[in-house]
Amino acid sequence: MSDLTPFEYLTALLEALDAGVRVNGETAIAQCPAHHDTKPSLKVTGTWSEEHGQDIVLVKCWSVGCTAHQVMDALYLTDKQLFTVEGLDEPEQVATYLKDTGLAPVFPPADWSRAYNPNGGDSGQRLGQHPWPVEAEHPYGDKWLLRRYRNVHTGEKEVRWFTWDNGYWAHGRGGTPPADMPLYRDMQVKASTGPVLVVESESSVDTAWQMGLAATTWASGATTVGSFHTQLQTLLAGRHVILVPDHDDAGEKCTQDLIEILTGVASTIQVVPVTDVLGRDCPKGADARDALEQVGVEALTGQPPKEPAAATPTAAAAALAAEATAGVPAARRYTPPKRHSMQK
Ligand SMILES: [Zn+2]
Repeated sequence: MSDLTPFEYLTALLEALDAGVRVNGETAIAQCPAHHDTKPSLKVTGTWSEEHGQDIVLVKCWSVGCTAHQVMDALYLTDKQLFTVEGLDEPEQVATYLKDTGLAPVFPPADWSRAYNPNGGDSGQRLGQHPWPVEAEHPYGDKWLLRRYRNVHTGEKEVRWFTWDNGYWAHGRGGTPPADMPLYRDMQVKASTGPVLVVESESSVDTAWQMGLAATTWASGATTVGSFHTQLQTLLAGRHVILVPDHDDAGEKCTQDLIEILTGVASTIQVVPVTDVLGRDCPKGADARDALEQVGVEALTGQPPKEPAAATPTAAAAALAAEATAGVPAARRYTPPKRHSMQK
């Protein structure tokens, strides 16, 4: 059993795994185990938690923003072990065991000259350096791009915003508040005639366009639809609007909000529950894309599809994709096999 605090335990474990740990009091910098971290960017902080009445450890990946869960998972620890080391063996023993079994992350040579600097400076953040492959890209006009990454091993996904800024892509939305973001594919909707599908995800929108149905959504999901009422009313005035809510509580609520926003603005509002298409017992979270792929545009909306209008990425988005592919190491450092318990 260990008498260490969670900070001491985690730091000692990372040290034993050769993660280039540098300790300074109750703070340490190390290579992040959850991504290919050549520029040590994991900040580990030991602190007293009033709330929990005990020592806890905080971890933050300043490079690509791995979550605490991902960091712990890569070390075969659970999130609970940010708060307690109860039941864990000595970190050195665990590290040896992990190394011997090939379960532990293997850290690349560290370039400390570009490491995370807790006092400011280069965070080591590089465009496109994400450990997971790009699953989809969704341009919001010419200025913004939403990228979706997927962990091929766990199925987890992450999204990142990029902003086109003087000839290069910068991380984030450049401080643009959600309410100032355009609706997704708004220019294409403006140029189209006929019904417009309004759904809760960019993937559903892209599927609809590929199948010949005009479609749009807004940045950041079901619960924020209220922030976009002005854009929605402007774009959808006089249009025949088709709503296909996601099959979950947020989807229901979002549809009520949309009906409120568009009543008296859209010429007609048609609601098509996913359950009408996929059946009562379709999985929670099933969405318009699932329904479209299952039955097609006409069966879903009663409207004949038009010529497919493939959603082509902008030239800038294509350039970003090329840049990212060049910068991402092809192989991950370890493949999480089945979970095992570190307790003996
Ligand atoms: Zn990381």
